[in-house]
Amino acid sequence: MDEHTHPPAEGAEELRPNDVRRMDMETLVSYLWRNAARWMRQQRDRHWDDAEPLPDITRAALKGYFEPETLARTRIRRVPIIENPAFYTAFDEAGETIPLDFRVWAAITFGDLILLSDAQVPGPPPHSVIFHEMVHVVQFGALGIDAFAEKYVRGLAQNRFNYMAIPLETVAFDLQGRFEASAGRRFAAESEVLAELDPEDPPGERGGESLNRRR
Ligand SMILES: [Zn+2]
Repeated sequence: MDEHTHPPAEGAEELRPNDVRRMDMETLVSYLWRNAARWMRQQRDRHWDDAEPLPDITRAALKGYFEPETLARTRIRRVPIIENPAFYTAFDEAGETIPLDFRVWAAITFGDLILLSDAQVPGPPPHSVIFHEMVHVVQFGALGIDAFAEKYVRGLAQNRFNYMAIPLETVAFDLQGRFEASAGRRFAAESEVLAELDPEDPPGERGGESLNRRR
């Protein structure tokens, strides 16, 4: 509605629409992750006070996969829809495709805050949806918001904007699949997420089998 006249956030990097079109990939990646990190902080701050602890039933279902402290510090908030960030207007105005359309997402995580979309998940959230987001909570906890944003955007750009192929997402989807197949046989998902982020573990030696290999 008034998104084109929306004032830039404090300290926002003002980039004109033409700049988006002219950017080389490295400039675009840098622009995107810096704006994404700022957006994540803003969203977390905006929703934190109205968010609630994970429901008891969710914590019971995810116990054993994640540390009790991790489950305890995570908050969740229902929103009508996951809104796209204001800096997307630069893409719209340049006639460029937006990197990811969050309006069709069921949930999204900003640090230790999970937003759940009423539009996509009208009823109680399936445990596997929250499980997936908890993987991101652990990644955020280990990396911090800036490093998460940079890794995420870089992975997106390196995989032709297919978000399912972003390494931070493939870990989440792999573990989510194992959670769904685990029928309550708990495994230490949190330590596996942390091991995947360990810089001492060179990517070349990991391969696609690493998650299975560790169990
Ligand atoms: Zn995800």
